[in-house]
Amino acid sequence: MTAPLGPWKAIVFDFDGTLAELNIDFAAMRRGVLALASGLGIPTGPIQSLHVLEMIEAAAAALGENRPGEVPGFLRDARTLVEGIEIAAAESGALFQQTRPLLAGLRDRSVRTGIITRNCRSAVLTLFPDIGQYCQAFLSRDDVGRVKPHPDHLMAALALLGAEPAEAAMVGDHPIDIRLGRRTGTYTIGVLSGHSRREDLLEAEPDLILASAPEILQRLS
Ligand SMILES: [Mg+2]
Repeated sequence: MTAPLGPWKAIVFDFDGTLAELNIDFAAMRRGVLALASGLGIPTGPIQSLHVLEMIEAAAAALGENRPGEVPGFLRDARTLVEGIEIAAAESGALFQQTRPLLAGLRDRSVRTGIITRNCRSAVLTLFPDIGQYCQAFLSRDDVGRVKPHPDHLMAALALLGAEPAEAAMVGDHPIDIRLGRRTGTYTIGVLSGHSRREDLLEAEPDLILASAPEILQRLS
């Protein structure tokens, strides 16, 4: 007999791999950004192991030291490149079949829901145009100053949902989501419906691992 989960006032979900199937080519993004940086004479050694958003930020900072006038153009080109890949992935991706029933079921049980993602807003809306009918807080990277794993991203969602971290759960398929929840003080649930293996999630020490997010609904107290 497994213990019931919650009760929670709010649950915040990651998007890609948690509520939707999306195959974003992160390797192509990082190659593209490195090529842009290298074309501008930015040393790529120190940035090549970073995640793509942090890579863009670090490259812009390095460029800004000597040629601040070129930073806006670089940022515009990098954003166009990344969004092009994200929107292409969204067009060939899909929301998981159980995502709408899950969010509607939580609403029926008076649990407020939010979605936070490092993806761009238009890619998410391509897959989930009626998102506003299903959750009360949707914050893409375009909507916040500091994206996850910075706690600001989750805290901003919790503020919109009117919940304290201790009254909430963070659900995601990536160790970043688990570390974010732990750092912020929510309950943390890792799901195996995305791109991380159980071992990778376990290293981030989630409170619980489930096969997929919809299981939460059956297990709520
Ligand atoms: Mg994800």
